[in-house]
Amino acid sequence: MRGLVVGRFQPFHKGHLNVILDISKRVDELIIVVGSAEKSHTLENPFTAGERIEMIYETLKKYDLNYLIIPIKDIEYNSIWVSYLESLLPKFNIIYSGNPLVRVLFRERGYKVEKPIMFNRNEYSGKEIRRRMLNDEDWESLVPGEVVKIIKRVNGVERLKELAKDDY
Ligand code: NAD
Repeated sequence: MRGLVVGRFQPFHKGHLNVILDISKRVDELIIVVGSAEKSHTLENPFTAGERIEMIYETLKKYDLNYLIIPIKDIEYNSIWVSYLESLLPKFNIIYSGNPLVRVLFRERGYKVEKPIMFNRNEYSGKEIRRRMLNDEDWESLVPGEVVKIIKRVNGVERLKELAKDDY
């Protein structure tokens, strides 16, 4: 059985990692879709698809998992989003998502959708991590060590802070 997990992973954090490790026990293969692939360099979506793929790939290297990582652009057409994904991905049988829109869209197309167990959602959250980066608070403990290295290498915190400045 092939499972599907979709996320923006801005950035990839320990909550995402726990979900992937948990789901991988239940499927033969997992497709990890890096959504909103076209988005980067904004306060909500600071990292490029390539950077996010690297975060996931480097983190998962030490685990024996069977997975594919596929970046996919958003489309302004929710009602056909699932068939758009079907045309780009290998066949999948089950979707794991806590995102209400994702859950509704797949369920309406007849897919089995399961909600992953939430891991410390208050802290393991992209929004909270980006907030901490902007406020010089500890964000490093919320992401895997490999992600810390990638964010530092691409000057991700400085990028976010620059993007938050007013025009002058
Ligand atoms: P996300 O990175 O916030 O979350 C990814 C997954 O991880 C979700 O299922 C979420 O519930 C889970 N998660 C997050 N923190 C967790 C924690 N602490 N513990 C356990 N699970 C946790 O990404 P998202 O916003 O859900 O990504 C959905 C993607 O699908 C976006 O890129 C969105 O644009 C895309 N999308 C596109 C369209 C379209 O193009 N029309 C429509 C729907 C969705």
